[in-house]
Amino acid sequence: MNCDLSLIDAHIHLDQYDEATRSLVTEQSIVSDWISVSTDLRSAERTLALARNDRRIHPAFGWHPEQPLLSEEAHEQLLRWIDRHHLSMVAVGEVGLPYYYRQQEAVDEVLYEKRLESFIERASRYDVPVILHGVYEDVPTICQLVEKHSVRRAHFHWYKGDERSTDRILSNGHVVSVTPDILYKERTRELVKRVPLEQLLIETDGPWPYEGPLRGEATLPHLLMDVVRTIAQLKRLPEEEVATQITRTTRRFYDL
Ligand SMILES: [Zn+2]
Repeated sequence: MNCDLSLIDAHIHLDQYDEATRSLVTEQSIVSDWISVSTDLRSAERTLALARNDRRIHPAFGWHPEQPLLSEEAHEQLLRWIDRHHLSMVAVGEVGLPYYYRQQEAVDEVLYEKRLESFIERASRYDVPVILHGVYEDVPTICQLVEKHSVRRAHFHWYKGDERSTDRILSNGHVVSVTPDILYKERTRELVKRVPLEQLLIETDGPWPYEGPLRGEATLPHLLMDVVRTIAQLKRLPEEEVATQITRTTRRFYDL
């Protein structure tokens, strides 16, 4: 691939890397920009601090749903913090529903949805994208909330939904992203064939560790080159064209 091309990592948790590994992520030339999401208030504060030191880091503020609910007071505190800092964020995220957490613990579904709705409402109010963690059966519920609040830009990250939901997301003009699991997951490869290149983003979700041929490897930017190469093969397009289009889509979607 042409070395002048730079990619954008559309979903990463930069605040979750240790300092040395984060330097490995940021001190290379493959990725030019990162959409760095947060998982709670502390994470949002850390992500904002990272972004203030490096203009290539674009922060998103939210609360990751795969954890026990916050108290009402702590949730309100996070929302007030987002309201105070909304001019610094490129998006609300990562937010969504607790697909994996509810396999271990009984959860208050109504309250999780209510909390998610308060974040989606923020995205609508500030007219910024919302970055969504929505897995399998949760996707239709999330789509409904996004539609209810007329959110213009929704990014379903590491997207894993059925074909009907995929078509619903795409026809509403939203985007989905794929991770390095495209190297070994047939489901992700099938998804890429279905999604127009103009609505597809790429991400590492780092520091998340991958499996298959990537087991034991640190999640670093070069993995996005492998993702682009695989998309190019599946779409039978030149790698440069794929990289250029995905970067263009990401810039436009996030107003970078
Ligand atoms: Zn994530």
